[in-house]
Amino acid sequence: MNNSMHYNFHTHTFRCHHATGTDREYVECAIKAGIKTLGFSDHVPYPYLHGYPSTVRMDMDDTSDYVTAIRALAAEYKDDIQIFVGFEAEYLRDHWADLRDLLLPYDIDYLILGQHFLHSELDGSYSGAPGADEAKLKEYVDLVIEALNTGNFTYLAHPDLINFTGSDEIYNKHMTHLCLEAKRLSIPLEINFCGYLNQRHYPSKRFFSLAASLGNDFVFGRDAHTPDAFWDEATYNGCSALAEECGISLLPEVTLRKPFLNDH
Ligand SMILES: [Zn+2]
Ligand SMILES: [Zn+2]
Repeated sequence: MNNSMHYNFHTHTFRCHHATGTDREYVECAIKAGIKTLGFSDHVPYPYLHGYPSTVRMDMDDTSDYVTAIRALAAEYKDDIQIFVGFEAEYLRDHWADLRDLLLPYDIDYLILGQHFLHSELDGSYSGAPGADEAKLKEYVDLVIEALNTGNFTYLAHPDLINFTGSDEIYNKHMTHLCLEAKRLSIPLEINFCGYLNQRHYPSKRFFSLAASLGNDFVFGRDAHTPDAFWDEATYNGCSALAEECGISLLPEVTLRKPFLNDH
């Protein structure tokens, strides 16, 4: 196993309804894989969905159990691995204040931005659905930029989730805007292992070649939905090859941003 990646801040749990394994199995597999810093970032519960049976995120009622369980493991395994508690969240402008109010009491360590939806998951518009609509591409970029500017996000997960099938010229124009803004804010962009593992349209060479040429910072994210994701050498090698092809070197460590410090 190549142990050159000592951190992973993109880790799910069974609470999101589409990941499997116990919390402890994630921790123990990460330790065995040589990870020294492990961040849990399960799909955030969104208060506007309370009572809605989402299959892509944890229920609001599970928030306390999640934070408590991960904190307990952090204490138990502190001599072997450093564990942080965070969430992967969409930035939804109209619901952000409610999300902040939900999460603030838990004093979480970090958030990563995963903009799976532009509005909500209720209108069916998944960011990763293929399409050549420039307006949707621009909307994604504008929303991500607005989110990054809130100062709440440690990094941008799968920045290339938006699946624009139109011309490179249009794609590069908008994504350049995204990359330059992330660079200005010193927010790293993630090469996402889960997309590679599942042969999705990301991580995208088109995107990472562009971002590399613009001088962004990059991190690997396992986006683990099973504990053995930490052991997946084929995905590690594939993502490493992509990074190398694009001339990308990865950050040796990630600086966490404490969320909600500036929101009022
Ligand atoms: Zn997921
Ligand atoms: Zn994820």
